[in-house]
Amino acid sequence: MQKLIREVHPDIYRIRLPLPGKKPGPANAYLFMGKPATLLDTGTRQGYPHLKKALASLGLSPADLDQVVITHGHVDHFGAARRLRADSGGRIRVLVHEADRRSVETGRDMPTLAVGRFLRLAGLPYHYLVPLFLLFQVFRAMAPSCRVDETFVDGDVLELGRYQGRVIHTPGHTPGSSCIFLESENILFSGDHVLGHITPNALVEVDVTNILPTRPVQKEFYQSLEKIEQLDPGKVFTGHRKPVEDFPAIARMYRENFEARRQAIMAILEQGEKTVYQTARELFPELDNTTRLSLEIYLAISEVYTHLQALEDEGRVKLLAEKGRILIHLENGKQGKP
Ligand SMILES: [Zn+2]
Repeated sequence: MQKLIREVHPDIYRIRLPLPGKKPGPANAYLFMGKPATLLDTGTRQGYPHLKKALASLGLSPADLDQVVITHGHVDHFGAARRLRADSGGRIRVLVHEADRRSVETGRDMPTLAVGRFLRLAGLPYHYLVPLFLLFQVFRAMAPSCRVDETFVDGDVLELGRYQGRVIHTPGHTPGSSCIFLESENILFSGDHVLGHITPNALVEVDVTNILPTRPVQKEFYQSLEKIEQLDPGKVFTGHRKPVEDFPAIARMYRENFEARRQAIMAILEQGEKTVYQTARELFPELDNTTRLSLEIYLAISEVYTHLQALEDEGRVKLLAEKGRILIHLENGKQGKP
């Protein structure tokens, strides 16, 4: 039990829940003892037996919990919520930011058809689409839909065990991503907005009404990061892996990576016209033929596209959807011809 559960702060326990694959590593749920007994994130449906075991080791059953607070609408953070509530006899209340409510209530992160259309525009070859959509099905199986009892917004104060936590809305990773700040303790629970070991993905937000995704997720991510910098938390408890003790160093690392990525993308585009997909393949030459390939390529396209959005926002590129492709024009006149 030592590794599965640990008291990380007085009356706050971290529960590590298994996830398939190496990245981003096991999901962290945090249990706040006291009233209202609160679980922050739940892991996946498949991790539920581990969660129950961890609760039991503290002498608790699901019926002893009052509420589940979800940091964001990804399957590894809300997947066990429905089972947990069912096993509590329906007494657990489920809370999430209003912008991620739909993901939790439908159990699906993405509108599949719109994602498919976007990926084709990005130049992704057809043969990657089927394995990718099968993978989306696997994700869905990790998180049955769950009714949300209450939504919160930025600035709301939540009772978590014997503590009070302020909601800091930090869109970027998802539209409703939220961190919880315990002011009295100077500690932050970040979900996936801050991760110690990798820069979190600011995932492309495919839009069912627009041909090209318009939500500027990279810009939102860094604006959200500034919000956290202003709070200056002494310690950040993350959604995966170990807590972050030196948040300013992590924020610096994110910005350096961001700058390096965009320079690399500009350099690739200056060599000649490319699709988003081709740019992604050049940016990540290490992507090889693994079983996770289609997911990796999806994340790589998402990364390139969201950086292009930020570059467009600064007037350095122009994105157009023409003849079934996203065309990328460089505004510096340095674009080579193929
Ligand atoms: Zn996530």
